Amino acid sequence: MIYNVYGDIMSINLEQNIQYIKGVGPAKALLLNKLGIFTVKDLMEYYPRVYEDRTRLKNISEFLNGEQALFIATVSSPVKTQRIRKNLVIYSTFVSDDTGVCKMTWYNQAYIKTKLIEGEKYLFYGKVDIGRSRASIDSSLIYSISDLDKIQGIYPIYSLTAGITQNYLFKLEDEIYNSDILIREIFTDEFRKKYSLAEVNYAMRNVHFPKDFNAINVARNRIIFEELFLFQLALMNIKNSGIGVKKNTIYKEVDLKPFLDLLPFELTNAQKNVVNEIRKDLTSDKVMNRLVQGDVGSGKTMVAALAMYMAVKNGYQASMMAPTTILANQHYDELSKYFEKLGISTAIITSSTTKKNKREIVEKLKNNEIDILIGTHSLIEDDICFNNLGMVITDEQHRFGVKQRMKLSTKGNTVETLVMTATPIPRTLAIILYGDLDLSIIDEMPPGRSPVITAVRDESSEDKINAFLKSQINEGRQIYVVCPLVEENEDLDLNSVNVLFERYKNDVFKDYSVEFLHGKMKNKEKDEIMQRFKENKINILISTTVIEVGISVSNATVMVIENADRFGLAALHQLRGRVGRGKYQSYCILKSSNRSVNARERLKIMEKSNSGFDIAEKDLELRGPGDFFGIRQSGMPEFKLANLLTDTSILKSSQEAAKELVQKDKNFELEENAKIKEALFEKFGEQLNNIAT
Ligand code: ADP
Ligand code: MG
Repeated sequence: MIYNVYGDIMSINLEQNIQYIKGVGPAKALLLNKLGIFTVKDLMEYYPRVYEDRTRLKNISEFLNGEQALFIATVSSPVKTQRIRKNLVIYSTFVSDDTGVCKMTWYNQAYIKTKLIEGEKYLFYGKVDIGRSRASIDSSLIYSISDLDKIQGIYPIYSLTAGITQNYLFKLEDEIYNSDILIREIFTDEFRKKYSLAEVNYAMRNVHFPKDFNAINVARNRIIFEELFLFQLALMNIKNSGIGVKKNTIYKEVDLKPFLDLLPFELTNAQKNVVNEIRKDLTSDKVMNRLVQGDVGSGKTMVAALAMYMAVKNGYQASMMAPTTILANQHYDELSKYFEKLGISTAIITSSTTKKNKREIVEKLKNNEIDILIGTHSLIEDDICFNNLGMVITDEQHRFGVKQRMKLSTKGNTVETLVMTATPIPRTLAIILYGDLDLSIIDEMPPGRSPVITAVRDESSEDKINAFLKSQINEGRQIYVVCPLVEENEDLDLNSVNVLFERYKNDVFKDYSVEFLHGKMKNKEKDEIMQRFKENKINILISTTVIEVGISVSNATVMVIENADRFGLAALHQLRGRVGRGKYQSYCILKSSNRSVNARERLKIMEKSNSGFDIAEKDLELRGPGDFFGIRQSGMPEFKLANLLTDTSILKSSQEAAKELVQKDKNFELEENAKIKEALFEKFGEQLNNIAT
């Protein structure tokens, strides 16, 4: 029931602030806010984390050690109070049924003394401990027998925060679900029948208060389907596609030989295959939408360069977007030297491009005097207009949001897209993130690379490590030292780079050239330092993870990672990929003083494997997908119930349903889809640009 400030009963409304629900009030409301619960609807959608099986009522003689038991018993002795010390008071009593006796104990819960009356029957629920002589239960929950109907069954367990108990949430949910409030059903009966979906109110109620385990499945299935279905509709809409778009002009075949002849190496077979797949896409009648996956160092840049070459030879402009200025510069430096020799003009735009320079580039772009534009996010700014943009490449795509990726494509009429990633994406996620993308995999490394030797070391090896670093530098090699970004505290982050820098520079490595790099430096400064590192004018480069993606300096052979346990394995693998890019044997030293078994185990995986795919899989097992993929970065929402790793079959069926809807009613004009459209806007409102409102 909901009351207004005068205590009048109001009808419940989904958007209602939970503060006004009976039993909440301003203080509890603040606590609930911490759980993400602000409105009645939020509360209804606050689903249990797990369930407890309280279906069976037990006799005391049937108790098993360690189990959670629900039972009815009579209090057979007065409640005894023992003051152990200032902050510890124990309340205990015995309860019994026809079959046996159980000792009950509570800590610091003074109300027990008045709540339990000798000779009365109660309903208890608690974890059984069978000692030598008899059963005992600590901190049992107590209910009145008349609550049996409510309590017996499958009991939902919610995630809590201090000040909010299981019982409290249970009662709140019960209150709301016993009101006459209804959630609007967005699917037609026909649709629900087709995809075997329960009605929404039935489903939500049964996720909280299931009759049996089958009911949980049916209910969850429905809710997860809706979550994934709406998300995929949104994605398809943002991409403005879903189904292969036909193009007007098909590419003509391009002879790649002039380009390939310039390269100091031959393409690997894997690179050749992917280039072939791209060639087939371009010469087909559908627009290319391809994701290229390849481990760090597998040579994705060259594949991208060849794709852009084909576009330019067909009279189009091409653009390649990278997540950092350093990386954009590196691509530009490497590729422009080839393109120049082929008579193709290239330019670069980043946040450090001067206004004057930018004006010039914009002018030339419009006049078609620039064929290839490389850059960072700066590429998607509104004043960058092309004459005839035909191809867009996104490097390290996981660093961009879906919308950023799409925005560059809107600068041309029909744009062929290639997205590149070193982050291996399990099938389930590939389906959802890139539902309509074709997948290419570069599963082979350029020849002559020996795997990076990896070692996990603690502080006791400090001297040995430093001696080793010196020996490498004396042989002419270079070193990266990376320290972790301390979350939500940029100052600490800077500090740790600075502290480390001082230590290296003034102490152990005072005879060497040591420099540092961090995210807060101006782009120009960063670029200068990277340039000097490339020219081997710096022996040791200390940095945060700003160098994580893409950087390629083949003379650097050692990657030292401080507090390595702070990183995800995928990030460690990316960092390790910065070395081992040339002909020299390379090393990765993972420093960690963390003694926990779990941390050790995780780091050991790095010693054993050099394959990003294997590592990703293990990391996924250990940490779950959220951490690994940087969900926010990839433009994925957090789901209330869906689990992308396990709900594969619902993922598939919901995707089919979404595709079918888009095929039939792209602009949501049919009456039957009106409510779906509404829900879509409610959830993804500002991100949707193509559906007319
Ligand atoms: P990534 O896939 O991580 O983006 P890069 O494209 O940066 O990898 O390539 C890593 C290094 O390998 C670069 O220095 C590049 O010039 C070199 N490279 C690319 N392809 C080959 C090849 N087929 N043979 C030898 N070296 C190659
Ligand atoms: Mg790369």
